[in-house]
This record gives sequence, C-alpha cells and structure tokens, in this order.
Amino acid sequence: MTSYHGSCFCGQVEWDVKLEGKNHVLCHCDTCKKLGGGAYSLNQIVPMKDLKITKGQVKDFTYHGASGKPVHCYHCGSKESPLPDRWRRGITDMANAPLHSWISCYKVQNPLRPNCTSHVYHHQEVLGDQIVVRTILLDEGKSFEPTAEIFGKYRLPWVKESAQTFDIMPPS
Ligand SMILES: [Zn+2]
Ligand SMILES: [Zn+2]
Repeated sequence: MTSYHGSCFCGQVEWDVKLEGKNHVLCHCDTCKKLGGGAYSLNQIVPMKDLKITKGQVKDFTYHGASGKPVHCYHCGSKESPLPDRWRRGITDMANAPLHSWISCYKVQNPLRPNCTSHVYHHQEVLGDQIVVRTILLDEGKSFEPTAEIFGKYRLPWVKESAQTFDIMPPS
C-alpha cells in the first residue's frame, strides 16, 4: 500500500489516498462522459477509510445509479457560499467597469475564491463502505497504467482498447 496525494484544479481541496498499485480502471459509462466531459473516466475502488481530505471541503451531488441506489459525487466546494456579501456587491458595482478594473477588484476584494468542480471521488451506496476515487487527479496519476475497463459496451467507437474490458462490470 502506498499513499498518493491528489488535488483539485483550483487547489482549494487536497487529499491523500492509499492504493495497492498505480492502476487506472477506465469507465466508459455515459454518466462518466456527462459528469467529466471526457470519453471515459479513470478510477480505483478503495475502502472509504483509505481516503483523507487534508485541505478544504468537498460538496456532494447525488443521483440514482443503475442499481436504483443513490450515488454521491463529491467535488471541490465549500458548504457555505465562498463569496462574501461585500464581494457580491462588488460584482454589481463593477458590472459596467472595464475588464482590468474588474480583475483588480477580484484580486483585492476576494481572497476567498469560488471553488472549481473537480470530481474527487464518489460513493455508490450499492458499494457499501467502498468509494471510487478519480485516479487521474493524483499527482502521479499520469504515470499509472490502465488495468481494466468497465462499461465497455458504451465505449466510443474511436477509443482503442488498452486493458481487459468488461461489458458492464467484472463478474463478482
Ligand atoms: Zn477546486
Ligand atoms: Zn462511469
């Protein structure tokens, strides 16, 4: 087991996750395409206890998966609005100002930035206390190898097979 560090696009959320190996499982399902805006997603399933959010907060978005059970997607995001009232007023005041003034207003008045939407992990209730982490968001993710592909029946026709592929999920 090795611990890997991950971070979101805007840098407000960081985490550590323990993994058995430097592997990606590619998911070709249509939900991953829609949520991530890519041809497939890169993942590993790990026990919930092996992920620690070390900086910032995640916010959840819940939908119902193929099993009918809820799936909670956790992405970079504060529980409360990160925008202070004075900055909201600033936006209104600055709406008609030249762009360079608007940018300096942003930098000066708003040390608290809005969050990005990097999808850190998700919890499918059907998986019990296991979660699915997005392996490409880890610092070393680009050196991981694909070891399996799931929901292969939804693969886009121009995406080549790079690992053992299952039509849906591996038989349990
Ligand atoms: Zn972020
Ligand atoms: Zn998927």
